[in-house]
Amino acid sequence: MDKFGTGGCLCGEIRYFCNEKPLMTGLCHCRDCQTNTGTAFGTLMIFSKTSVTLRGGSFGVYDSKGDSGKMVRRSFCKDCGTPFMFEYEVTPDFRVILGGTFDNPNLVKPEWNIYTSSKQPWLELSKDLKCFDRGFKR
Ligand SMILES: [Zn+2]
Ligand SMILES: [Zn+2]
Repeated sequence: MDKFGTGGCLCGEIRYFCNEKPLMTGLCHCRDCQTNTGTAFGTLMIFSKTSVTLRGGSFGVYDSKGDSGKMVRRSFCKDCGTPFMFEYEVTPDFRVILGGTFDNPNLVKPEWNIYTSSKQPWLELSKDLKCFDRGFKR
């Protein structure tokens, strides 16, 4: 089987395998992603759920309400605390992997920015990327 890429948490306890390319990739500048990742934005690589396999130890989850009013589940390694995956109740067929956790973090370029209304003011975004004040719109 062709593999798109592999990755995991800092301590190596959690490993994931992605068989297909992500459906899309973008950067989320919302306050929840900033807080959860401890940095300026989350790099969201959105996969169809069936193309992502998880292996390894047990991981923790944290559920909170997203901007849509539906739940967002954020998964993290219980040993080292690395956040590595989001799942959205609004899009149950997707698994979102945080791009920085890939073994090779340069597999794809982001295509868009969302929640730029809370973007850090010192961060300059590429002019080639679509930007949305809040959530993604087609
Ligand atoms: Zn870990
Ligand atoms: Zn976000």
